[in-house]
Amino acid sequence: MDQVPFFQHDLGEEEIAEVRKVLSGNILTTGQQVLEFEAQFAEYLGVNHVVGVTSCTGALHLSLAALDIGNGDEVITTPLSFIATATAIIQAGATPVFVDVERHTGNIDLKRIESAITPRTKAIIPVHLYGQMVDMLRLRAIADAHSLHIIEDSAHCIEGAYQQIKPGTLGDTACFSFYATKNITSGEGGAIATNNDALAKKLKLLRHHGMDKTAFDREKEGYSHWDMPIFGWKYNMDNIQAALLLPQLNRIDANLRKRAALAHLYYERLKEIDGVSTFDIKPEVRHAHHLMPIRVSPAIRDRVVMALHERGIGAVVNYRPIHLHAYFREKYGFENRHYVAAEEIGDSVLSLPLYPNLRHEQVEHVVERLSTIVNTLQPNPNL
Ligand SMILES: *Cc1c(COP(=O)(O)O)cnc(C)c1O
Repeated sequence: MDQVPFFQHDLGEEEIAEVRKVLSGNILTTGQQVLEFEAQFAEYLGVNHVVGVTSCTGALHLSLAALDIGNGDEVITTPLSFIATATAIIQAGATPVFVDVERHTGNIDLKRIESAITPRTKAIIPVHLYGQMVDMLRLRAIADAHSLHIIEDSAHCIEGAYQQIKPGTLGDTACFSFYATKNITSGEGGAIATNNDALAKKLKLLRHHGMDKTAFDREKEGYSHWDMPIFGWKYNMDNIQAALLLPQLNRIDANLRKRAALAHLYYERLKEIDGVSTFDIKPEVRHAHHLMPIRVSPAIRDRVVMALHERGIGAVVNYRPIHLHAYFREKYGFENRHYVAAEEIGDSVLSLPLYPNLRHEQVEHVVERLSTIVNTLQPNPNL
């Protein structure tokens, strides 16, 4: 069998046609296509506003800035995520405070949040890890009891829901990524969803230098001077990114169904392998199936990843916990055993290929190879 890459995008003629439309016009930066994408994505999520930006990292940073969270403030989040979840907090000037995760899902453990709240706590950033949404009703109740904001890191969870509640509904904002390997992609890109009208307005200023007019406004309305009422950053999504995303919205649920079927097949086949386990999916969850994570013994995990690569199968680790990266150890004094569940997952997890154009035979092939590798590397308990 051919190579099975870890990820493959499914962009094609429709995206090329949409980008061609942008290039034949004159507004390459934020304009008509961005407005259309924002409107259509807001409709998909069932939220009042979407603000297009250049990354999820930028979306998280802007959400914190728009909520006036910065120096001296603490923000609670999970150590089991991509580093950007925590670096955005630092970028805003605040301090990340980690809360350990649930062993069986990898999501932040809601039971442990209250004991991490201090008078400086201003917000919670949950991550809907691998595509499985956190229980937002319970999290909102905890946040409300302590007057905290919620910013959802929904980079893995565009299509997901918990008890029918989608990202952006109960959070003050939800932040999305359209990075190269995400469920829809523009190479780089991101978005913020919110139901708060005033916050949406502020986010639109903040993503564009704090300027009260854009080039698109001047094109439509004729020239007039702009002012800079507040300090802002440069995070506005451009028309080329929006053009790449628009056609993908049309097939977003069809692609989810394909990934869900593939994930289901993985779960069925992986049950038969000793030494491999999967994460629980809660019955209340509509899973976005962004990643296909599995767990093996920490003693063999790195060798399993390498052996898959040697056989032409892509696999990566999502994630080694944030607090154990050198910068975080040095700056905050984190050590091993501080967040035990996150560390146990970080030492044993790896992600297998999962994307809409992956074929069922390829899943069978990956599982077969994985089974042989694990059987060979695993210490035999009978010896
Ligand atoms: C990809 C990712 C991000 C960062 O997204 P960018 O668009 O690359 O900034 C943040 N959080 C999580 C959980 C991610 O997977």
